[in-house]
Amino acid sequence: MSLPTEATQVIFERLPEGDGEIITDTSKPDSTFSVKTVKLNENLKNGELLIKTLLLSNDPTQRTWLRKQGNNARSYIPPVYEGNVMESFGLGEVLKSTSEKYSKGDIVSGRIDWADFAIIPEAKILNKIDTKSGLPLSYYLSVLGMTSLTAFFGLTEAGQLGKYLKEKPEKGKGPIVCVSAASGAVGSTVVQISKHLLGASKVIGLAGSEEKCKWVERLGADLCVNYKDSDYQDKINNFLGDSYVDVYYDNVGGQILSFLLTKMKEFGRVAACGAISGYNDPKESYVTTWFDIVAQCITVEGFLVFKYKEKFPEAIKILSDAIKEKKIDVDDSIHIEKLKGDSPEQKLSEIPKIWNLLFNGNKPNGKLLIEVA
Ligand code: NAP
Repeated sequence: MSLPTEATQVIFERLPEGDGEIITDTSKPDSTFSVKTVKLNENLKNGELLIKTLLLSNDPTQRTWLRKQGNNARSYIPPVYEGNVMESFGLGEVLKSTSEKYSKGDIVSGRIDWADFAIIPEAKILNKIDTKSGLPLSYYLSVLGMTSLTAFFGLTEAGQLGKYLKEKPEKGKGPIVCVSAASGAVGSTVVQISKHLLGASKVIGLAGSEEKCKWVERLGADLCVNYKDSDYQDKINNFLGDSYVDVYYDNVGGQILSFLLTKMKEFGRVAACGAISGYNDPKESYVTTWFDIVAQCITVEGFLVFKYKEKFPEAIKILSDAIKEKKIDVDDSIHIEKLKGDSPEQKLSEIPKIWNLLFNGNKPNGKLLIEVA
């Protein structure tokens, strides 16, 4: 195949007014994104890779990367500034390389442009995929990738439940775990790891519809409630009776976190994984029950999955075994969206719409990926 001479890219144009919901229709003048086709430089600088984008991950955290030029507030990862190509985690095939680490033909995982082709520095690559394993590439962005690792370390390290990997609790005496965004990529894995690997006695999920809740219960949750129902708190209260939650795995912040803090056991732990309720509007993630942290001596531990990088191989082995033993579902947990359209511009303009499903309640269960090529 001859090398591409141009690339079609999705550009992050502007933050929505008032930091609100993003505008995904790239044909609108106030759209958050635009699509353009540019010439690719055929001469790579030292340490650069020409990448063909294969699969893109859709992550809520990408919303927190979006910045106005000149905003230097601290960030856990380099932001994407207005006027630049939007990025996500993803997989690409190396078409040409001046890097000593990666060669033509390698499939690599890293921070990839929202584009069909891109020239990127090798520093943006996390690792090379072992294609000899024969596993579907999608696994490396989902059940064996950042998603499952986040669920795993959130529970075992921030939630301090790792001891139960080796020594299962007595039947019925395991921890009570609750997780929000339970039908999502991370949340659905939290349910399964808690129930099938850590011996949780009760697992409670919260998700945004009856249908999503049924799926979460099929995965192993003892109860899943629709947080959009006015009586969801009563349902959790009734289910818990006199008992309280040992570990709350918080993906959303805000109103749900405020309620769950009142349901925590003394010395319970909150694994603070994310706060998606506030990514479009930070006010939505505010907490109103802070004093429960004091009164019940609750530990709230924020964490980032990359903090545990050294332990990834060990965790991937445990997760791979769990997949083989069917303790972690792979059939219904990965949803791959193909880009539709007649031209590269039409196809690429679908990406913001697909990503925005994470925020508007219409995301399919589990991990949502985009197949670019
Ligand atoms: P995801 O769950 O696949 O998609 C987002 C989910 O959030 C959707 O399923 C949606 O479900 C739910 N949601 C959206 N708005 C909500 C709201 N206002 N209130 C309650 N739920 C809402 O995404 P994910 O990749 O698994 O990420 C889940 C969380 O983990 C995010 O907060 C993300 O930032 C965080 N995360 C953290 C790390 C880390 O290292 N700390 C790494 C990866 C991800 P419903 O339809 O049920 O609303």
